[in-house]
Amino acid sequence: MMPKKREADEKKIKKILEQRGYKGGKAPRGSEVHHIKPLAEGGKDTRENIRVVKTPQHRLIHKNRRARGDE
Ligand SMILES: [Zn+2]
Repeated sequence: MMPKKREADEKKIKKILEQRGYKGGKAPRGSEVHHIKPLAEGGKDTRENIRVVKTPQHRLIHKNRRARGDE
């Protein structure tokens, strides 16, 4: 049986981004929210686990993870 995929908690993410000074609690244009430890691996929507990264960098992170067979 496939484990149920966890959805990101958008409310928590918004609050964290607001606290970091991101307007409206959203990642700026050209950036995205990244979970350092993926939600699928039990990562949480916490300050420690959330980073704002540029979109191309974000794509690269996940591309590398896939290449390692981590995703
Ligand atoms: Zn990511």
